[in-house]
Amino acid sequence: MNIYSFPRVGISFDDPTVPPRDSSTIAFLPALSVIPLLQHAGVPAKPTVAAGDLVREGMLVGRSQGPLSANVHATVPGRVIREVSWKNAEGRICDALLIRMGGGFELLGKKETAYSWADLSPHELIRLIAEFGIVEMEGPGRPVAAVLNCEKTGKRDQSLVVRCVFDDPWLASDYTLCRERLKEVVEGSAIAARAGRLNRIVFAVSHREKELGRKLLSEAASYKFPSSLVITGSRYPQHNQREMELALRTYERRKGILLGSVVVLGPATLAAIYGAVKLRKPVLDRYVAVGGSAVKNPQVMKVRIGTRIGEVFAECGGFVDKPERMASGSPFLGQAVTDLDEPVIKTTYAVFAILGRQAMEGRARNCIGCGECRAVCPVGLDPEELFKRARRFQNGDQAGSPRASAGCHGCGCCELVCPSRLPLSQVIAGGNSHAG
Ligand code: SF4
Ligand code: SF4
Repeated sequence: MNIYSFPRVGISFDDPTVPPRDSSTIAFLPALSVIPLLQHAGVPAKPTVAAGDLVREGMLVGRSQGPLSANVHATVPGRVIREVSWKNAEGRICDALLIRMGGGFELLGKKETAYSWADLSPHELIRLIAEFGIVEMEGPGRPVAAVLNCEKTGKRDQSLVVRCVFDDPWLASDYTLCRERLKEVVEGSAIAARAGRLNRIVFAVSHREKELGRKLLSEAASYKFPSSLVITGSRYPQHNQREMELALRTYERRKGILLGSVVVLGPATLAAIYGAVKLRKPVLDRYVAVGGSAVKNPQVMKVRIGTRIGEVFAECGGFVDKPERMASGSPFLGQAVTDLDEPVIKTTYAVFAILGRQAMEGRARNCIGCGECRAVCPVGLDPEELFKRARRFQNGDQAGSPRASAGCHGCGCCELVCPSRLPLSQVIAGGNSHAG
């Protein structure tokens, strides 16, 4: 079987502090949940409830403000205590509803009704996906209705790419979800393909998980879409959009299959689409990989959206010692968590806490000119040079214009291998944001 990969370098890495991914545990329901009105890329939802109001499990509590926004729902029943705000590590103000759990659950533990979607038009499917607030469950979290709405994008001849590429070990939550809810992922793919009027489904699966790929393809045989399996490389950043497209174009040429433009969605997003259309419910929980050197019992957990991250760590046995750094996402691309009251949101696929020893190893020193960063950049850039330019630009030297870094997509490979632990991709990406 051929393996399709992006052509230039990248890295293979393991992380012994990632939780085992063979099964998941279910986290306790939060007595107090924090439901942010912005859990997606774009415009915050507008609250539909106020302090003192009672809410039901799955009730709309934040209304989308247009195609670049998304509905937000309560994940437990209870009463809204108050609205809260905090400034996250990036300096962004986050507004949220604080809900004290109480009353009966209408969805949890009840027999689910499965609705047929066979007779629904793409327009009706898109409406359901928007109504239940489905967004990409990783990355910035684009609203999926906008991603799939080809009437708006004007694109035709598209393929849906189901991204089951686990080049980053912190995607353990996606892997566990695929194993435990494979049928939902596949039916969610068929729904997404119909909703987006896409012509083909391509399951892109990293070669270490070939068996999973065969199961996905076999399950997909019961739907009427042409489907195929592409085995990809496992080097990071294979799951990035750019590297994924490079691998797929090689597959397209060799097989003579026209993929057209591609819409790439991950397994958690597809399971959420299944929930919205087949079960008519919003995203109430998600799989989260919880680990890092400071966590006693790392594990993949199914966590209610709105659960505070401190409670999630506590359920993993707490900390072996005071952590030096906490973040959500992957260790080298993650966003710092400065307050344990910050909640798990739709896009939180991993949270980690690391000890001082590990963090000290991460302290920046001077560049030693080793060239490791150049050797791994999948785009062929010179991260050392871009880093120095971006630093000069930040210090007011216009000659250090960051425009040359425009090809950088922030994969973080350079930063991961740098023996001096310089914050290469962070600084280079900062330079990009200045570039007009
Ligand atoms: S972050 Fe940018 S410069 Fe660094 S390896 Fe990735 S693409 Fe290259
Ligand atoms: S990897 Fe780090 S130390 Fe080596 S050349 Fe690049 S920036 Fe300098």
